Amino acid sequence: FALESQLDCIRRCQVNSAIRTPNSMRPLCDLSRDELVQWCHSHSQPAYRAAQIWRWLFGKRISNFESMCDVSGQCRQQLAQEFVLFSTKIVERRTARDRTEKLLVELCDGQHIECVLMRELGRRTVCISTQVGCAMGCVFCASGLLGLKRNLSTGEILEQVLQLDRLLERNEKITNLVVMGIGEPLANLQALIPALNALHDNFGLGLGARRMTVSTVGLPDKIREFANVGKPYTLAVSLHAPNDELRNELVAVNENIGIRSILEATDEYFKKTGRRVTYEYVLLSGINDQPTHAHQLIALLKPCNAHVNLIPMNLVESLSFDKPTERKAQQFADILNRGGITTTVRKRKGADIDAACGQLRLTQESSFRT
Ligand code: SAH
Repeated sequence: FALESQLDCIRRCQVNSAIRTPNSMRPLCDLSRDELVQWCHSHSQPAYRAAQIWRWLFGKRISNFESMCDVSGQCRQQLAQEFVLFSTKIVERRTARDRTEKLLVELCDGQHIECVLMRELGRRTVCISTQVGCAMGCVFCASGLLGLKRNLSTGEILEQVLQLDRLLERNEKITNLVVMGIGEPLANLQALIPALNALHDNFGLGLGARRMTVSTVGLPDKIREFANVGKPYTLAVSLHAPNDELRNELVAVNENIGIRSILEATDEYFKKTGRRVTYEYVLLSGINDQPTHAHQLIALLKPCNAHVNLIPMNLVESLSFDKPTERKAQQFADILNRGGITTTVRKRKGADIDAACGQLRLTQESSFRT
């Protein structure tokens, strides 16, 4: 088992070094706590150092290894020789009138991703990315317009949370996580699962699994794999249409999947984890927001234990889709609620800072290209 996990560690290093510039070092949060225990072992440090180091890394908002004052000087030096605290840097920070914050983050190979911090009464939610770009082909989404560049590593996923955590006041802390930024999270499960584990771990951020939501375009095999992790993470599926004909037009990958097989997989997710699945539905004016669509959606989801979250389309400059009026969105929600499907309309956060996923990166990449 130890050899297996060592090999795994080496394999991960190789994957990571493939995306790293020659002289850049591995971020410390890229290691799981078990891997850090092994590192301590091979550096003649006691195993309890791993927990100590993690407490500093995730809980104390430090900016250098020297600040880990109860970790021996020798150990801090060893850490500094092999790791960096951050491999990413913030290249732009936007703050909205509602105090939503959005970061444009540059990765070590010069690629960019986005992450967002949302503040609500008693709640601090972070929204993070899992890939550079996206291959799913949703026609209304800014994230996929430039295609998929690459997966993020576990460290790059976690660093977004750590960077956002450092924007908070001393007395504020992150209470919720949504994996709804750039990319398809379930297409990068191998990096996402260790990141979620670290955030869930009491020596990490200690976030409850139910407070972590992973949003997927709906990849049935990956939904099953995610269910087998055995934690009650909240799963949100981006449905956006009540039938395959319309969904094929809006979500390119649906051609090879189909709604039926997604619902079979989410049914298993519910049975295994006990978590009710949320279905996200972007309302596109005149396209999928008619009363007939709402009635079809009721028929489709009635047999499932479903919750629907309606998202009025966030306008993307280069795309011609529009959002419905607030009244029309509410009418759509009312039909669903009357039909026995619990439905909410998502509140818009950070409207004045391009906070919807992929928009800031898109602006950045296009300004590079012109
Ligand atoms: N790949 C994942 C995560 C995507 S982002 C998924 O498909 O779920 C999270 C949600 O935002 C998805 O439901 C996505 O379809 C939605 N979204 C993307 N672009 C949008 C836009 N312009 N307006 C409103 N919602 C959008």
